Amino acid sequence: MPIQTDYHMHTPLCQHAVGPLEAYVERAIELGLREIGFSDHNPLPNGYGANVRMKESELDYYVQRVLDLRFQYRGKIEILLGLEMDFVEGLENYLAEQTTRYPFDYIIGAVHYLDSQCRLGAWSRDCPYPVDEQYARYFAGIRKLAQSGLCDIIAHFDVVKRSTRQPSERGLSEIPVTLAEIKRAGICMEINTSGYRHPELPEPQPYPTLPVVAEAIALSIPLVVNSDSHAPEQVGLAFSGVEGFLHRNNCRQLARFERRQRSFYTL
Ligand SMILES: [Zn+2]
Ligand SMILES: [Zn+2]
Repeated sequence: MPIQTDYHMHTPLCQHAVGPLEAYVERAIELGLREIGFSDHNPLPNGYGANVRMKESELDYYVQRVLDLRFQYRGKIEILLGLEMDFVEGLENYLAEQTTRYPFDYIIGAVHYLDSQCRLGAWSRDCPYPVDEQYARYFAGIRKLAQSGLCDIIAHFDVVKRSTRQPSERGLSEIPVTLAEIKRAGICMEINTSGYRHPELPEPQPYPTLPVVAEAIALSIPLVVNSDSHAPEQVGLAFSGVEGFLHRNNCRQLARFERRQRSFYTL
């Protein structure tokens, strides 16, 4: 069977995605996906990244909107309730409360900050750290996220490569250590195809890069394939190519979620 799910879709509430939610759903139906989920950027306190996420006061509305959509499209496609949770050290209690307050089907955990000043996208411009230090800080954040127990799926594993130049061996050595930590934590990782539409990457590639996906398969880390859509036409982007890669590397099952319980389907 082909890839059946796309769990990483944003909504205009995060202020940098476009298009009505219905257009994302219709695109997914057109592509033959069976189950999709919205996972918009979560609110954070103290104005943290306030221009790229929904407000605290909008979270109730977001949840209700997705649940209404689930009802509206029942029988046509399954719609799950997710959230992309920014992991920020020191906010663990806040995040634990937020992610258990609603009937989420899964939480995608992401690291977008190297410290309170240094956000992804700005990393290449104003980041005070040299590239290996950026890798070290980013992947240390991913390991803490994996250990935190706050999420079900690790977002765009090596997205640090988007804003930085090629690291040395020392920077790259963070990758196997971090994969091992995800394996130990027993959580799922996404293959995020948004890299295929990011022109700043030296060549079209997902997050993580395909050789790292192969390592994850070898470690039997549970996987999902996600588009990280910020516009309806990005839903399911490049899924067929990734599917071929998974087949060639003997990955025969992918994860799915419901009320934060994981199961698998055969690919
Ligand atoms: Zn986004
Ligand atoms: Zn992200």
